[in-house]
Amino acid sequence: MDHNINIDLAVSREHLDSLAQQSERNNEALEKQVNKLSLICWSMWTLILEATDLTEEDLLQRVKDLDQLDGQADGQATKAVAKCAKCDRVLSEQHPHCLYCGAERTFLSAFDMVT
Ligand SMILES: [Zn+2]
Repeated sequence: MDHNINIDLAVSREHLDSLAQQSERNNEALEKQVNKLSLICWSMWTLILEATDLTEEDLLQRVKDLDQLDGQADGQATKAVAKCAKCDRVLSEQHPHCLYCGAERTFLSAFDMVT
């Protein structure tokens, strides 16, 4: 009986270790994606600075303004819940079509495509 408990604990431990390793790989992949996106945003911003009269102060003010659109100044770009244009039900972020009526998801902004 004790032997079976030890085997179960060992299997559970292996499973937890496997999940932890997968989670760590996912975090590393996400960190790389964020770093790439940050580099691209920074590059775009330097091009905008060179091509326009906009300033760092303008950018900081816009970040502050957009941050507050959802009612919380938390430094996060929280997206509103997307609704189906055909049936007005909530859309799943994981599916390109409405789960209720099958209508294709429409995007009002390119940033809506980032999930
Ligand atoms: Zn729908």
